[in-house]
Amino acid sequence: MKYMEARDAGGKLKRETLQSVAPWARSVIVCAINYNTAQPYSTQVSDPERGWISRYAWSRQDYHEAVMRRLRMVESKLRVVATEATIALETRCYVDTGPVVERVYAKYAGIGWIGKNTCILSQKLGSWLFLGVILTSLELEPDLPAPDRCGTCTRCIDACPTNAFLGPYRLDATRCISYLTIEKRGTIPGEMRHGMGRHVFGCDICQDVCPWNRKAPATTAQEFEPREGLVNPALEWLAQMSAEEFREKFRGSPVRRAKRSGIRRNAVSAMGNSGNRGFLSTLEELKKDEDPVVADHARWARETIGGSDA
Ligand code: SF4
Ligand code: SF4
Repeated sequence: MKYMEARDAGGKLKRETLQSVAPWARSVIVCAINYNTAQPYSTQVSDPERGWISRYAWSRQDYHEAVMRRLRMVESKLRVVATEATIALETRCYVDTGPVVERVYAKYAGIGWIGKNTCILSQKLGSWLFLGVILTSLELEPDLPAPDRCGTCTRCIDACPTNAFLGPYRLDATRCISYLTIEKRGTIPGEMRHGMGRHVFGCDICQDVCPWNRKAPATTAQEFEPREGLVNPALEWLAQMSAEEFREKFRGSPVRRAKRSGIRRNAVSAMGNSGNRGFLSTLEELKKDEDPVVADHARWARETIGGSDA
């Protein structure tokens, strides 16, 4: 997540202001698309042989591409309008990777409020939203920010298994399962492993428990339907996945970010947290794995499941 700390020549955080990267920008258009699919929430499944991949990462097509394609359509319309009105126009589109904190702009654009779980929440759609922004040189009339509707609720904070919230609206990203399973390289600190439960890539708990997601509608965008086997995936399958199968299964998927080693490490940890003694013989084999990180986690997992033959 180093890009978040990128600074300009003067030492200012690039994400702090648009002035340094796009001094011509006068307005930010924020687009949101619902990626929720009609699948259970992580809090509704409990099969000890299976783990969890975050809802946003199941999709058939990488969300960066799916959202960018739509942003380009809006951008083209802007160009037509600007050309007809003989107005000079500059634009730039970002999905997740630019020096822009999308959810802050989403809040001021009226898409939703930033909840205590730090996600953007829409009263109508819940929080399963991908955001994309278009910077433009056009002076547009701003929308009104959406009011905060979290009220006295603290469900997300109370449900977090790794106590990653420092308080409402404040997250210690280094304690979040999303960071630990996706960004963290090498071994995961021992004290954090138990809290990760059976998560293999990301975590949805603080969104799953949110009352605003109880009736979140399913998306109509086919690209966000899950790839086969990724909803509540089999842990042994992931832990033993070959390099070739990983490449095939996760081609064009955000899951690639964790790399094969990370996914196997996370699956092995999840096996340890499952308490499922059926995994003992596989873990015994994985203790000798050529990847030392996987082998280390397999030793831990086997001890964690315990028993006389551990
Ligand atoms: S994503 Fe999971 S680990 Fe991260 S803050 Fe939410 S509940 Fe906690
Ligand atoms: S669970 Fe409650 S406090 Fe957390 S984001 Fe949802 S409404 Fe807000």
